[in-house]
Amino acid sequence: ESEVIHCIGCGAAIQTEHPNELGFTPKAAFEKGMETGEVYCQRCFRLRHYNDIQDVQLTDDDFLRLLNELGKKDALIVNVIDIFDFNGSLIPGLHRFIGDNPVLMVGNKVDILPKSLKRPKMIQWMRERAYEEGLRPLDVLLTSAKKPQEMEHLLETIEKYREGKDVYIVGVTNVGKSTLINQIIKQTAGVKDVITTSQFPGTTLDKIEIPLDDGHFLIDTPGIIHRHQMAHYLGKKDLKIIAPQKEIKPKVYQLNPEQTLFLGGLARFDVIQGERSSFIAYVSNDLTIHRTKLATADAFYEKHVGSLLQPPRLDEVADFPELVRFEFSIKEKTDIVFAGLGWITITEPCVVAGWAPKGVDVLRRKALI
Ligand code: GDP
Repeated sequence: ESEVIHCIGCGAAIQTEHPNELGFTPKAAFEKGMETGEVYCQRCFRLRHYNDIQDVQLTDDDFLRLLNELGKKDALIVNVIDIFDFNGSLIPGLHRFIGDNPVLMVGNKVDILPKSLKRPKMIQWMRERAYEEGLRPLDVLLTSAKKPQEMEHLLETIEKYREGKDVYIVGVTNVGKSTLINQIIKQTAGVKDVITTSQFPGTTLDKIEIPLDDGHFLIDTPGIIHRHQMAHYLGKKDLKIIAPQKEIKPKVYQLNPEQTLFLGGLARFDVIQGERSSFIAYVSNDLTIHRTKLATADAFYEKHVGSLLQPPRLDEVADFPELVRFEFSIKEKTDIVFAGLGWITITEPCVVAGWAPKGVDVLRRKALI
């Protein structure tokens, strides 16, 4: 009779009775979470606040069993990726678990890509990254779970590749898998036809089955948590700020060496050497960027993180991981990617440093635009 509450990290049903089972959270933490509207299971809470707990998803028996289960099926695997956080979207070792099953890679959130980034280029880039990871997707396509009109193409492509088999949708948390499933349900079955009760054998993980025309199913698997996502270090309100809701409007900065940009209090970009040139930031339109001198940047951060430099909020600063520095020597037009946040395009040769919270990646790639 009481409503089931799900962890906003991994989607497990929250329970307060069995500490060693999935979805456990202490009663007091649960009550506090209900007040703030952010209920995490203990596992996700720890992951979020003490990011030194590594690879939880691979030691969790339930998730391992789920992945093993996928390998035993004869099915099409649809791997949902957040195109804004490719690395943070990867399921470690997925290609080993799924065996010979074909994979369709679906890049979600295409609605926020700036118009200047052409879809084929993004698709090609994703294909190359997938190959590097050992995944050989049959096809890569882009979609937006927020746009009903994108579903037709997605469903047609799934239909083309599934060859009369079941379809398993997999993805780490926060890639937009729930939004996508809901959109698919709206376009196809209708909520009342959806089967929600069954579990993966040997696990406590629920699956949602959406009937397809020929007696087969499209099956939603629980989200797998990935600790390298920026999303796990932030509260719900902050997520709204950093997760772009609309098409990104690039911001151009003319920077000299010895200058620094702060992306809220979440990341930092230093120009160390080079000529004065253009740097183009592709991040959420709601994220405030501050420019300062490199020489005083450390002190500036110390003083203003949580206030001028937000997110994180002031009450989150104590729990927020320190920023870690990555240096890059740039020869050609390059993007410095802050996982889950966006990227800065560099137009001329220079030496730069990118900083992100400990545990979150800063990467370079050949400029996409
Ligand atoms: P899940 O954990 O994978 O199930 O992810 P959710 O469906 O809860 O989505 C995570 C966040 O991404 C939410 O804030 C969604 O509103 C947002 N989101 C999901 N799909 C899209 C999309 O296609 N475009 C945009 N802009 N945001 C999306």
